[in-house]
Amino acid sequence: MKCSICNGNIAETFLKKILGAYVKKEGSSKKYPVCFECQKKFTTKEELLANIK
Ligand SMILES: [Zn+2]
Repeated sequence: MKCSICNGNIAETFLKKILGAYVKKEGSSKKYPVCFECQKKFTTKEELLANIK
């Protein structure tokens, strides 16, 4: 699983949960995985979405 912002690998737990979050774009069903580091850097959903390419 790769981060949609920094393109780095997102670690997964043994339960296949990612150490990060999924961000959903308004009006889209696509989910973008974001790593823990980027989650710390961009604290609001708006900021995260603005940085997803
Ligand atoms: Zn990232």
